[in-house]
Amino acid sequence: MSPRQAAPVLLVALGGNALIQKGQQGTIEEQFANLREPIAQIARLSQRHRVIITHGNGPQVGNLLLQQECCQDVPRLPLEILVAQTQGQIGYMIESSLDNQFMALGLEVFKPLVSLISYVVVDRHDPAFANPDKPIGPVLSDEQAAGAPYPVMRTAKGWRRVVASPQPISIVEKREIKRLIGMDFIVICCGGGGISVVRQGRHFAGVDAVIDKDLASSRLGLEVGVDIFCMATDVPGAALDFGQPGERVLDSLSLAQARRHLDEGQFHAGSMGPKVRAALMFLEGGGKSALICSTSQIEAALAGKAGTQFVP
Ligand code: ADP
Ligand code: MG
Repeated sequence: MSPRQAAPVLLVALGGNALIQKGQQGTIEEQFANLREPIAQIARLSQRHRVIITHGNGPQVGNLLLQQECCQDVPRLPLEILVAQTQGQIGYMIESSLDNQFMALGLEVFKPLVSLISYVVVDRHDPAFANPDKPIGPVLSDEQAAGAPYPVMRTAKGWRRVVASPQPISIVEKREIKRLIGMDFIVICCGGGGISVVRQGRHFAGVDAVIDKDLASSRLGLEVGVDIFCMATDVPGAALDFGQPGERVLDSLSLAQARRHLDEGQFHAGSMGPKVRAALMFLEGGGKSALICSTSQIEAALAGKAGTQFVP
């Protein structure tokens, strides 16, 4: 085994804010500018690690859904196709940002990059399908909601389309990803939690569902043998009493504490909750290291100087 192949495998799960920050419109210029900081760090880290990058796609898929609502002249596309589109567009943005950062580092040889359209298998009997509760896409008028060809729910913002958010069972391309990592490719995959598919005999069929990208990343990490699982987001780490006067960010979190705080509802469902669950699932499944940090502190967190570190 060459020294490079022995380099630890680092998986960075990039949160939505790596592309679009709160209050921004989400122009392409903004998205490239936001990517610069996390990607510069990942480019440096890639000199000492083998790297997998996963990413969210909420606002991007939301914009594609909005375009569909705005234009009746072209046929609507199912969610699986829209998720595939966002994996392509965001994969391209990450790849070109990495190339720029390799150039800035003055490297003679650039690591090979690949963005993979990734499917993630879910169970058609997952209880989430009986109760779709993940809002996606634009706010709908009463009229649009009444005539919508998909399930809708009244949320705090108004009527929105809802889809199921089932548990990820397996990443379809795990063998390919493992081989690419073995060849020291930087692999960008499982964008938006992956395209949800169910097994149909010997085939896979896309389903209307959204998998949390941190849970999908955790599963991926176990299936391909990731050493370090880093979830980078828009807060410095997991906090207790989040949003309240006594809020405190945790430097470290044991597995037992993590379970207890989850049960107490300290980590909100749909945001920090799945990140903590993803870390637990990874470490309980044999992963070595898991952490949650801000997208601006990935290197510091890996050095143990920032973020929330999960400890046994
Ligand atoms: P990402 O796109 O990175 O997955 P999420 O919105 O899913 O982002 O998760 C990050 C968010 O989790 C933070 O912006 C914060 O509002 C929320 N959050 C909920 N509970 C907590 C907590 N206990 N500590 C820190 N952040 C929390
Ligand atoms: Mg999230």
